[in-house]
Amino acid sequence: MVTTTDKKIKHPEIWEILEKVKDPEIPVISVVDLGIIRAVVKENGKVIITITPTYSGCPAMSVIRLEVTTALLDEGYQNIEIVTVLHPAWTTKWMSEKGKKALREYGIAPPLDDQADEIELFGEMPAIQCPHCGSMNTKMTNKFGSTPCKSLHQCQDCLEPFDYFKCH
Ligand SMILES: [Zn+2]
Repeated sequence: MVTTTDKKIKHPEIWEILEKVKDPEIPVISVVDLGIIRAVVKENGKVIITITPTYSGCPAMSVIRLEVTTALLDEGYQNIEIVTVLHPAWTTKWMSEKGKKALREYGIAPPLDDQADEIELFGEMPAIQCPHCGSMNTKMTNKFGSTPCKSLHQCQDCLEPFDYFKCH
C-alpha cells in the first residue's frame, strides 16, 4: 500500500507548501493531514495536484482548490493544475494521526475508522468520545452540525456540545 508518507518523498517541496494549506472549515488541519491530496506530479514544468474531496458535494472544495493554487503561486509556481478525482472515494483512513489529534484538540471528535460504514448501513451512531472530557456518554443532537460534514453531539457528562467529523 502506498501511503501519503511514501508519496511525499517524490516532491517534498510541494508537499511542504500543501501542509500550510488548512481546511477552510477546520483551520487546525491541513489538506495533507485531512488526506484529500492524493497525488503530486510534475510534468513539463507543470505541477499537477490531485484532490479527492471528503464527499462529492463538499462545498469547501472550491475554496480548497483556490487556496492550494494560491499557496503554490506564492511560492513561485506558475503552471498549476488541480485535478479532482472522486473515485476511489475519500475514506477516514486517509486522515493522518496528526490530523485526528489536531481535531480532538480543536474540540471536534475525529472520524471513527472501521465502524463508519456500518453507521451508514444501519443508521445508528456508535458512541462518539467527547473530545473535551473523554467520556463515551454522548448523544447526537443534530445530524448536521456547523457544516454538512459534521454532526452535532452533546456530552452527557460535561454537557459540552461538540462536532463529530463524519464524512468519508
Ligand atoms: Zn465531555
